[in-house]
Amino acid sequence: MAQSGVSSADLLRSIFVRFQPAPHNLLQILHAVQACFGYLPEDALDALGEHLKMSRAQISSVAEFYAFFHLKPHGKYRVLFSNNITDRMQGSAVLRDELCHALWVEQDKVSEDGLVSVGLTSCIGMSDQGPAMLVNGLPITRLESARIDTIAERIRNRDPMENWPHEWFRVDNKIYRRDWLLNTPLPPGAALSTLLTRGEDASLIELKTSGLRGRGGAGFPTADKWSACRSASGEAHYVVCNADEGEPGTFKDRVLLTDHADLIFEGMTACARLIGAQRGFLYLRAEYRYLLDSLDAVLQRRRESNLLGTGILGHARFDFDIEIHLGAGAYVCGEESALLESLEGKRGIPRIRPPFPVQRGYLGQPTVVNNVETFAAAGKIMLEGSGTFSALGTPQSRGTKLLSVSGDCAYPGLYEYPFGTSIRQILHDCGASDTQAVQIGGAAGLCLSSHEFDRCLGYEDAPSAGAFMIFNRNRDMFEMARNFAHFFAHESCGFCTPCRVGTTLLRDLMDKIHAGRGSPTDLAQIEQIEAILKNTSHCGLGQSAYHPISDTLTKFRSAYDTKLVHTNFSPAFDLDAALATARQMTGRDDIHAHLKEPT
Ligand code: SF4
Repeated sequence: MAQSGVSSADLLRSIFVRFQPAPHNLLQILHAVQACFGYLPEDALDALGEHLKMSRAQISSVAEFYAFFHLKPHGKYRVLFSNNITDRMQGSAVLRDELCHALWVEQDKVSEDGLVSVGLTSCIGMSDQGPAMLVNGLPITRLESARIDTIAERIRNRDPMENWPHEWFRVDNKIYRRDWLLNTPLPPGAALSTLLTRGEDASLIELKTSGLRGRGGAGFPTADKWSACRSASGEAHYVVCNADEGEPGTFKDRVLLTDHADLIFEGMTACARLIGAQRGFLYLRAEYRYLLDSLDAVLQRRRESNLLGTGILGHARFDFDIEIHLGAGAYVCGEESALLESLEGKRGIPRIRPPFPVQRGYLGQPTVVNNVETFAAAGKIMLEGSGTFSALGTPQSRGTKLLSVSGDCAYPGLYEYPFGTSIRQILHDCGASDTQAVQIGGAAGLCLSSHEFDRCLGYEDAPSAGAFMIFNRNRDMFEMARNFAHFFAHESCGFCTPCRVGTTLLRDLMDKIHAGRGSPTDLAQIEQIEAILKNTSHCGLGQSAYHPISDTLTKFRSAYDTKLVHTNFSPAFDLDAALATARQMTGRDDIHAHLKEPT
């Protein structure tokens, strides 16, 4: 927040000098301005436009795209409840109502005295210790009624957050099963030394032999991606680590970034050596902003140890450094081309491909984008070689996979399993009983019912980017699907009509059924929208947004049928009511100006 006695202009000047005046720094400058003023004031955006030689419209359109930028004041205390289905299963909706009541504030509105606002946000990556919330960007986990009362009291008393109990902000990283990746820590620099001794060509062959595939879900062979980037021509090559872990129910990257940051940076630096990059970025989701200082400290330590910077480990022409860029609350930026747009300071709208990032990525130059777990695994393969890794898993899915286990089980936390492990085994290990379903891979993943629990983790059977949400037989699977329908409608970037409109219609139809106004005709409409989304959406978000509904409709049909009390169709959208403004403007309210007779 702005300090008293210092003019806004001086504050802005002090921010601007910290960043090169280039449009690709826009997001990072917006973060700095918002941290200073609490929101993005109009005059600050005007000054920023002059500084970056960008129009005010360009800057505003970027700021408006991201959920965590605010063009209006949103309260001294900004409370955002994580709205993942696991948070809701743990009672987050009741706690949110309690807090609103205690603070006399309506959800999504700023209190009259400008003190506080309470709202919802997509999963904040704390499903293993929910219900959770962010207060001014800092996570508070394990919420319960007594803590909500105390939080309300501290807010009412305008108690600075530095005075709040440190215990509230504790984030536990419980690892219940370690395997190849997590069982022995990597001494910093060991993988790079081995790579330099082995040689670049041989190291790339080692990566290829390992069979490592991208851990972000698509499973593209990592060595093929790095080789393609290495041979692509450009003025510069870049390495980008996708730490925008936005898939609901996933928190494995949080644990790696907290406890194994060296391994991630080692993998990125190895990649830089193999593709000839001198600059890398870690794109950190805004919800993990609390990790920024510790990650910066690791980077600084690596610079001081000659593991980053110029002449790494004494090798001439081995220059590489890593910057951390903060996202700003947009799930779609987990898609690699949208992430690159965001890294360039733009709206995170997925690019048309080809060209692929390995050909034209960051600033149009060849770029490798991999996620946190992939770089960590690549770093370890550089040290150990391919042998142990490739002996684990299945022929199509080598090695191990990290799973973020949450929901109805005794031991929610992180688990590392070799690919090929059955769902049943994982449920047994985490103390799940009476399970009716597992949502594996996040909102767009697979919903497995109990007769599928012998299926196995793997790209060829049950793929997962890392989420493993468990639902016992008391849970309403319709509610799970409805929660994800809301998630996709909220996170659609709005670029293409099928997704922008289709996800909204799916959400509204699910709400209509939930409200007891649904009919079989609504289910037929849902199926029509699914086909449109699947076949005409621009990116994977729209193409897979129907998954949770179609899976639950197929496997848990009774959860829908019990809510279909009407046999006659009633529209979800009241067109006549929507025309009220037009009637007002034309001064007409006679019967012919209505689609139906006024009641
Ligand atoms: Fe954006 Fe959805 Fe279109 Fe993807 S499918 S580009 S998220 S509107």
